[in-house]
Amino acid sequence: MTGIQQPEVNIGLVGHVDHGKTTLVQALSGSWTDQHSEEMKRGISIRLGYADATFRTCPGVDEPECYTVEEECPDGSESEPLRTVSFVDAPGHETLMATMLSGASLMDGAVLVVSANEPVPQPQTEEHLMALDLIGIDNIVIAQNKVDLVDGETARSNYEQIQEFVEGTVAEDAPVVPVSAGQDVNMDLLISAIEEEIPTPERDPDTDARLHVARSFDINKPGTTFEDLTGGVLGGSLVAGELEVEDELEVKPGREVEEGGQSEYVPIETTIRSLQAGGEDVDTVTPGGLLGVGTGLDPSLTKGDALAGQMAGPPGSLPPTWEQFTMDVDLLERVVGVDGGETVEEISTGEPLMMTVGTSTTVGAVTSAREGECEVKLKRPVCADPGAKIAINRRIGARWRLIGLGTLTE
Ligand code: GDP
Ligand code: MG
Repeated sequence: MTGIQQPEVNIGLVGHVDHGKTTLVQALSGSWTDQHSEEMKRGISIRLGYADATFRTCPGVDEPECYTVEEECPDGSESEPLRTVSFVDAPGHETLMATMLSGASLMDGAVLVVSANEPVPQPQTEEHLMALDLIGIDNIVIAQNKVDLVDGETARSNYEQIQEFVEGTVAEDAPVVPVSAGQDVNMDLLISAIEEEIPTPERDPDTDARLHVARSFDINKPGTTFEDLTGGVLGGSLVAGELEVEDELEVKPGREVEEGGQSEYVPIETTIRSLQAGGEDVDTVTPGGLLGVGTGLDPSLTKGDALAGQMAGPPGSLPPTWEQFTMDVDLLERVVGVDGGETVEEISTGEPLMMTVGTSTTVGAVTSAREGECEVKLKRPVCADPGAKIAINRRIGARWRLIGLGTLTE
C-alpha cells in the first residue's frame, strides 16, 4: 500500500478550546484516517485523540511549497512520503490536566495552537504552555490559527502578543506560523516548521521495550464462544526498544488480588499474539504513534481500560511498583488557567493529591510533607522509574489544577 508507514514521532496538539486543534489535525491528516477506522484503532484513539499524518514532498518543487499531505502534487505527479507523524490531540475543553499530561509524557514535541482573533493568552493556552515547560518539551511550533478571520494589523499585533507571552518559556524560540486550518492556508509552511523543529528522536533498538499502556480492551462481541475468543488488547505507546509478535511481555503493576481482606497487585505475564501500528497488522513495532498489542491475556483482565496506566516490557525489565513514594516537589508560583491566578500554597500532610506518572493517573494522600519534599500513599500503585516526573494536581474549586512537578526519589 502506498504511503502507509508506522508513525515515528508523537506530536502533541495543545492550546485553548476552539482555537482549532481538531481542525488542524483534520487538515494535516488528509484522507488518511478514513481508510483505517478499525474498531480497535478508533477505540484507542478516543481518549487521547491520536491521528496519524504522512508528510510528503513534491519532487522538483521549492521549499516550502513542496510540502503536502496529498498523494498527488498540483502538477499531477505523485508526491513522495517523508515521514509519518502521530498527533496527540489533547482535549481542551474543561481540560482534565492529567489527561493532557499523560498524553504529554508521550510527546516528542508539540504544536501550540493560538487563535489570531483573541487576546493572548487564553487560560488553556497558558496552562498548556506551562505544562510543556514543566515536562521540558522544547521542540515546539506555534500555529497562529484563523488568520482568515483577522486583518493584517490584528494579525501582527496578535503575533507580538504571542512573542511576548512565550518569552522566558520553552517556547521562546519556537517559530510562529500564521495558518488557517479551516481554509487550508499555509499548511506547507507549518509542515516545513514541524520538519525543522520536531525531529524524530534517535532510538536505540537494543534497549528493552517499554510500552506505556493508555487503554486496554476486550474486543470480543458478547456471546463469543470460548474457542473464538480473542485475547485481551493493550493500546498504548512504545517509548523505547522494539516489540515483536511472539515476544514475552510482563505488565506491571498487574492485577489486583484479594487475600484475607488485603489487596495486592501481582504482575501479569503473557505473549504478544498480534501487533497493530499505523492501522495495519505488523510483525514488529518501533516507538512512535499508537499501537495495538494483541495478547494471550484473558480478556476479562483487559476489559474497560482495566490495565490503563500500567507499563509493559520484557519480563524482569520493568521498574518497581510503588504503593507509596517520596517525591521532590517543585511548586508553581501561581495556579495557572484560573482568572486571577491564585498563589500555590505549600503541600500539607493529609491532603489528597492527584498525580500523573507516565500514562497513570492516581490519587494519593500526603502522609508527610516538608518543604520541597513529600511522601504520598497511593490508592492505586504505579510502576515507575526512580527519577520519574510526576504532575501534581490539587483540588481547587470544582476541578483538579496543576500545582507543580514532582520527581520520584524513593
Ligand atoms: P479545538 O477545540 O481547538 O479542537 O477547535 P476546533 O478545531 O474544534 O475548532 C473550533 C471552531 O473553530 C470550529 O468551528 C472550526 O470550524 C473553527 N476553525 C478552526 N480553524 C479555523 C480557521 O482557520 N478559520 C476559521 N474561520 N475557523 C476555524
Ligand atoms: Mg478539539
